[in-house]
Amino acid sequence: MDMKQDRMPAAFLGHGSPMNALDSNRYTQAWRRFGASVPKPRAVLVISAHWTINASALTAMSSPKTIHDFYGFPQELFDIDYPAPGAPEIAAEVAEIVKPGWIGLDRDSWGIDHGAWSVLVHVFPNADVPVLQLSINAAQDFEYHLRLGAKLAPLRDRGILIVGSGNVVHNLRLIDWQQPDAAFDWNRRFDGTVKNLMTHEPENLAELSNHRDFSLAVPTDEHFIPLLYLAGLAAEDKTPADVLVEGFAMGSLSMTAYTLGLSCGNLRGDGRGASPESHVPGEQTNI
Ligand code: ZN
Repeated sequence: MDMKQDRMPAAFLGHGSPMNALDSNRYTQAWRRFGASVPKPRAVLVISAHWTINASALTAMSSPKTIHDFYGFPQELFDIDYPAPGAPEIAAEVAEIVKPGWIGLDRDSWGIDHGAWSVLVHVFPNADVPVLQLSINAAQDFEYHLRLGAKLAPLRDRGILIVGSGNVVHNLRLIDWQQPDAAFDWNRRFDGTVKNLMTHEPENLAELSNHRDFSLAVPTDEHFIPLLYLAGLAAEDKTPADVLVEGFAMGSLSMTAYTLGLSCGNLRGDGRGASPESHVPGEQTNI
């Protein structure tokens, strides 16, 4: 049997506004195509920008709660429940795999935050795949996150789908609400450099902190770090990532998403395979 054939794909999804949970646009449609194209996983392990703490922790409860960690959005968004089960026994497996590194098992504090559920409602709309979340340890540097991503690679051979959820470019202070699909020049430049690295030399992604636009594109690093996990997996696999969908929102966000081990030609659900449209920033995002 070909091991690579059995290796679960992995992804980084640019989640943008929580409103994407309720919307249908070309990003959410790409997330749906991704979910429809992977073999049904034993569990999905999400590295979300919205669980950044000073520790390495992994959710290990059997019924993780849906966390509405935002304010100022419509009630409809607070009403969303994502009732996927947890998987305590798989959490123990993950903790074992990263040894001698240490990850604490969280049995009662976190759950499924909006960085995870705003994409999972599209990737697995039936909420029938168990969900684990791995915290982002804020005390660690980019190299650490890239290496930890690589260490998670054996999980792909055990039916675990690894998904980073953040945004390549994420500067809330500079958001321009009047321009839903626009990008500032520095956003476009940084996103382009990231694309070049992810699709050619993902092992070098951590060097981006020297990029001229880094401080504008990544003023705080929690939305960028989930991408380092996919870069680490790609580096370990010696396989570059593929662009799932790309585009910009409100000037200072990049919505670009990547997959690993699943070329666009193998995507199901749109009946067109690798459509050129899915790689061109479009007109409608509704966020
Ligand atoms: Zn976010």
